[in-house]
Amino acid sequence: MVSEELFKNLVAHAKEYGFIFPSSEIYDGLSAVYDYGQMGVELKNNIKSYWWNAMVRLHDNIVGIDSAIFMHPRIWEASGHVGAFNDPLIDNRDSKKRYRADVLLEEHIAKIEEKITKEVEKGRKKFGEAFDEAQFRATNPNVLRNAAKSAEITARMNAALNANDLGALKQLILDCEIACPISGSRNWTDVRQFNLMFSTQLGSVSDEANVIYLRPETAQGIFVNFLNVQKTGRMKIPFGIAQIGKAFRNEIVARQFIFRMREFEQMEMQFFVRPGEEMKWYEYWKNERLRWHQSLGLGKEKYRFHNHEKLAHYANAAADIEFDFPFGFKELEGIHSRTDFDLRRHQEFSGRKQQYFDPETNENYVPYVIETSIGLDRTFLAILSAAYSEEQLENGEERAVLRIPPVLAPVKAAVLPLVKKDGLPEKAREILQTLRFDFHCQYDEKDSIGKRYRRQDAIGTPFCITIDHQTLEDNQVTLRYRDTMQQDRLPVAGIHALLVQSLKVMGEG
Ligand code: ATP
Repeated sequence: MVSEELFKNLVAHAKEYGFIFPSSEIYDGLSAVYDYGQMGVELKNNIKSYWWNAMVRLHDNIVGIDSAIFMHPRIWEASGHVGAFNDPLIDNRDSKKRYRADVLLEEHIAKIEEKITKEVEKGRKKFGEAFDEAQFRATNPNVLRNAAKSAEITARMNAALNANDLGALKQLILDCEIACPISGSRNWTDVRQFNLMFSTQLGSVSDEANVIYLRPETAQGIFVNFLNVQKTGRMKIPFGIAQIGKAFRNEIVARQFIFRMREFEQMEMQFFVRPGEEMKWYEYWKNERLRWHQSLGLGKEKYRFHNHEKLAHYANAAADIEFDFPFGFKELEGIHSRTDFDLRRHQEFSGRKQQYFDPETNENYVPYVIETSIGLDRTFLAILSAAYSEEQLENGEERAVLRIPPVLAPVKAAVLPLVKKDGLPEKAREILQTLRFDFHCQYDEKDSIGKRYRRQDAIGTPFCITIDHQTLEDNQVTLRYRDTMQQDRLPVAGIHALLVQSLKVMGEG
């Protein structure tokens, strides 16, 4: 099945089994906003704990906080978000549709690149065994013409973005003869900057002074609490502060399900280091974070680094960890060397010193910062899309299964009496009672055992525990594994230990 179709099925599956619902659905939904259902919230909470434990519990020098979403508006001036957290947008006058100017250009470049790929494939077919791709790319006139075109547009786009030259961006769109995908016309407005922050008013008087923002990142809540945590926690550099929380961005192009939302959650950690040592820690956290992703066991080949060439105003090095989503490799997490930009700006804007006294060097300084910033919802989507599979069984039936890593699975075990009589439900409930305080379990006695197995496969439950008549005699149950569908007999007394063990195993590490 092509990945586009599989992705559509996955979105439908996520709704059908209570993972993700469109927000405000009975009012026809709210664009790029989603709700997590009864299974979704469990998976989300498990991802949060997995991250929190890896960052906070497993590091002596990292602590967590939970700062408010509302913050003093000057914070967003100091951070640069009021002035520079913009996307360049352009409207088509005929369709009245709004686009990101850089996205229109990137899609145009991608089409040219596609033409090159097609030309190369044609060559491969024509020349067969003797095909030399490098030589073909270096000499074929169509490939050369398109490659030059793509390079020229990319260079002009980057120059215009870097110089914030909106006129040049529009001219490039006109020169490329890009048409609106909906109206087909080239009747474009000028390019304008659009600030991505949502604003609202604090208190009852609606004048300028009361405008506040919904935070577009959780990071600033950490920066403005840097000294509070350092002093009260007696933290010594290097140390980190972690936070999980909501962030809000008025995204212009919001699509691809929960990949790009207007309200989403971030899991961020800011690591404070000595000036001059930031590159060492930047490399350290790049590797550590990749290892964390790989420990989930979704497949090492699904991740890659993308080093940034165009750096944000606050960074001196930046890389993304990209994941192979059903719609291609896209950013999942950002690792940024933010220099001392944020703390220095807060020092300037607040008039309060944001310095650390280093007892080892006897110096006062504004620390440098390495940030690791991962989207919780994108991680959710990565796990769901890697876990989802539709399988043809030997008996001709089909099953949809979510191979979610056991440690993250919403339900760890299902307890199923084979029939609804003869004392089996009572025995099953007795077993459930020994497990439910430590593991999220489900009890299910409705429908045939086969149907119940399918339902558990569909929500990703790694183990089914079936109680049959034999259980009443030998105190053993049938244990069915989600991934292999294999069945074993197991003494009741061994179930708890088996679950503990299986949840400890963390993939490829
Ligand atoms: P993109 O380039 O995709 O817009 P970004 O570079 O602006 O992302 P960051 O500001 O680095 O993203 O935010 C850190 C992380 O937060 C991202 O790696 C991503 O996982 C998540 N994130 C950012 N924007 C969104 C969004 N609109 N919806 C869901 N997650 C998001």
